[in-house]
Amino acid sequence: MQTNLADFIRDTPAGREAEAILRKCVHCGFCTATCPTYQLLGDELDGPRGRIYLMKQMLEGAAATAKTQLHLDRCLTCRACETTCPSGVEYHRLVDIGREVVSSRVARPAGQRFLRFALREFLPRGWLFGPAFRLGQFFRPLLPAALKAKVLPKQKSVAWTRRDHPRRMLMLAGCVQPSMSPNINAAAARVLDRLGIATIEADGAGCCGAVRMHLDDHEGARADARRNIDAWWPHIERGAEGVIITASGCGAHVREYAYLLEGDPAYAAKAARVTLLSRDIGEVIAAEMDGLRVLLEKSASTTRRKVAFHSPCSLQHGLRVRGAVEEILQAAGFELTPVADSHLCCGSAGTYSILQPALSLRLRDNKLACLSAGAPAAIASANIGCIAHLQAGTPTPVSHWIELLDQGLGN
Ligand code: SF4
Ligand code: SF4
Repeated sequence: MQTNLADFIRDTPAGREAEAILRKCVHCGFCTATCPTYQLLGDELDGPRGRIYLMKQMLEGAAATAKTQLHLDRCLTCRACETTCPSGVEYHRLVDIGREVVSSRVARPAGQRFLRFALREFLPRGWLFGPAFRLGQFFRPLLPAALKAKVLPKQKSVAWTRRDHPRRMLMLAGCVQPSMSPNINAAAARVLDRLGIATIEADGAGCCGAVRMHLDDHEGARADARRNIDAWWPHIERGAEGVIITASGCGAHVREYAYLLEGDPAYAAKAARVTLLSRDIGEVIAAEMDGLRVLLEKSASTTRRKVAFHSPCSLQHGLRVRGAVEEILQAAGFELTPVADSHLCCGSAGTYSILQPALSLRLRDNKLACLSAGAPAAIASANIGCIAHLQAGTPTPVSHWIELLDQGLGN
């Protein structure tokens, strides 16, 4: 696509990035058909091609308006359009730039500003979120339905395995997951321990930065990335062979560290190394299938439970991990039920379910209808946000697939 960016952005890193992305788009519209918001709203401007066009106009000097902001806000950043695009348009990077520009030019109403500020400052701080979440769990029976749906009931805790092995990998604890679902990392550590891999949650690491990035605080997201790299680096120098992430939304963001910090001479090389070392737990287990099959053969636990797997957008479109988790669950004896429209977002999408509740709930209803069609005994996913969002809409238990595998191994 021919572009002629305006002076305010042309010779900046963001401008050069935006121009390169815009030039790749041939305006074919293939992406529109797989965009969840276009499917719901039927408006070209609520699909990727229309949003790209809006951003192009704005970056070429047209006024940014509340309408531009609305259409960009409605985007889930699910990246289904990237999977479909034949030209390799990196839409998520363009929309990050577009949102930052529009947010610097269009003032949001006070209520929106406060909500976004609260989410940006509250969610990434585990020491704030944890006690508040536990308080919410305690008073859960008394909470209004909308709030109750966001607070998962307290989990029975699973013992963490901390045996040492010659093979060691770092594991991201993250910000909200340790409070909402502490068993996920514990289950991952137990499975990996059986496979001869020790896991380390490094002191000082925290939120991956995705929350701040999605709320247009790019500098805050870079600061989160630098803090994590500082926490992980001594372990990497001592031979940690990977950085495991059990929430695919966080994993897709950590995979971007090299890109986020490429302009920072002090961190660019380290960030590139962390990007190379980052692994979704599904990728780690898929690389250990021979060992896993041996463990499964020895395991007393036999299961033919029917499970519906919801592959988060961050897993299938962001990290492009497709089919690996399904293969692991089938190897462990689970019967996977067919799920229609598996490429579509469930509506969780980071803070989207809070900022765009009406669209989010429509997407969740559609997703749960597809997941429930095969009458599964359980639903599995790979991202804490999707798990909590789906669980709020169904009595069928929803958990991380690594917890099912952990149970399948007899834990
Ligand atoms: S499919 Fe790719 S090239 Fe075609 S309109 Fe969408 S983003 Fe542009
Ligand atoms: S990221 Fe998802 S919601 Fe946004 S334009 Fe692409 S397909 Fe549509």
